[in-house]
Amino acid sequence: LKPHQRELFGQPIGLYILFLTEMWERFSYYGMRALLVLYMTTSTLGDDARGAGLGWTSKEALALYGWYTMLVYVMSIPGGMIADKLIGQKKAVLWGAIVLCLGHGVLVLTDIWAFYTGLGLVILGVGLLKPNISTMVGGLYKEGDIRRDKGFSIFYIGINLGSLLATMIVGLVVAEWGWHAGFGLAGIVMVLGLINYIAGQKYLTQVGNYEPPKADDADEVSYGKLYSKLFSSPKQLSIAGVLLAASLVGWYFMDWGYGLLFVFLTAIAALLMMIYKELETQVYKDRFLVLLLSFIMVIIFWGAFEQAGGLMNLYTESNTDRNFFGLFEIPTVMFQSLNAGFIIMFATLVASIWAKRKLKGKEASSLFKMALGIIIMGFGFLFMVFAAMEFQKSGTSSMIWLVLAYLFHTIGELCISPVALSFITKLAPIKYASLMMGVYFASTGLGNKVAGIVGESASDYGEYAVFLGILIFTVIIGGLFILLLKPLKRLTHGAEDNERMMH
Ligand code: GLN
Repeated sequence: LKPHQRELFGQPIGLYILFLTEMWERFSYYGMRALLVLYMTTSTLGDDARGAGLGWTSKEALALYGWYTMLVYVMSIPGGMIADKLIGQKKAVLWGAIVLCLGHGVLVLTDIWAFYTGLGLVILGVGLLKPNISTMVGGLYKEGDIRRDKGFSIFYIGINLGSLLATMIVGLVVAEWGWHAGFGLAGIVMVLGLINYIAGQKYLTQVGNYEPPKADDADEVSYGKLYSKLFSSPKQLSIAGVLLAASLVGWYFMDWGYGLLFVFLTAIAALLMMIYKELETQVYKDRFLVLLLSFIMVIIFWGAFEQAGGLMNLYTESNTDRNFFGLFEIPTVMFQSLNAGFIIMFATLVASIWAKRKLKGKEASSLFKMALGIIIMGFGFLFMVFAAMEFQKSGTSSMIWLVLAYLFHTIGELCISPVALSFITKLAPIKYASLMMGVYFASTGLGNKVAGIVGESASDYGEYAVFLGILIFTVIIGGLFILLLKPLKRLTHGAEDNERMMH
């Protein structure tokens, strides 16, 4: 057997190379993310051993945090395009990892230019790496290979192992050696990821390679051509025109940041419309449409889920009794590890439940799992509603509510997130595979931004109302998608019907 054909625990060894690379990348991302708001809001004189911060107000810090966490994922679109058109996924991941090492390296410096440069590089690096490494996981499996979903679940464990280690270790390093040591640790860890990726290349010879277009290739994708065709497609052009006008109004009346974002989204919407129009067969068109519809679920899911780092985090800090049997007080940040910890505990369980049902011929469709994921996650907010009620009554609330909420959020995440990754690699037209993965991550990025906006509204309406609102909204949306399941499934034209054992 050639290296790329070798298996470990029933999966191609390449999966474990990608697993480890992504684990270190996520360690650096989540480690750095955990520090960001705290670093920005610490005074310029420094309050303790962690050293000087930037001295920003929490409003300023949260605003930058919202844009940063959104951009990191939105950059997956150009990242996916670069892979599709220029260098292939494998090289895009390599360059992404190098840029990330540089970015985290620059953040070790204390100057403000270094801060912005470092963040900018991290945004570019994640944009190049994150969508493309995920598409590569899909590339390890042939169409219809039953191992694909399980492979993505294993990959997802890698993601969260990185996040768990980071949220446990980085805080300790910072407490001892200061902020910039924490940023530096993220950088060192990323270098490990890079080395590990380079060393594992022999297991990845068959995936993520760039295929240069043949000179007379009619199939060749050109984004430039698609855009120029827009001008001879009246329907698409007028939709794009309306969106653009709305964006410009937004630019004028709102923040320039939002205006720019809307213009960017208009450009992407125009591209997606043109791709849809150009797809050769109705089957491709329908699948493309389902994929885009499923991204609505993705935005809503992350818009609710990402309260974790924001509103729920603040709630933990100020309204929750974190006293551990009178022995010590559990630090707020530790609650951020619950999600990653639960993922690691339950990912294989959830995946094997689906796999068992599949073997019995009763496999649920990805769309059903995603809708179910929204509902389960939404129910997690029921416990936050209880927490808010308890707080209103007694001035404090038990941490058991948080644990239960994060448990439900995690089970929901396991139903939607690894499933969606796998679903995209099944449904996206091959030529646009990386682009569509980019659009998917951009949707999660928009979800992050939505989460920030929803979370901020708690200062006007109170936590109780916000938690209850999220609960009701998500359960209704999830229910709606379940009602629409039949017609939606029809549109997938059996993309998931003939999966079987292939090895
Ligand atoms: N926690 C997951 C990760 O880091 C999901 C992130 C996302 O899809 N936005 O990969």
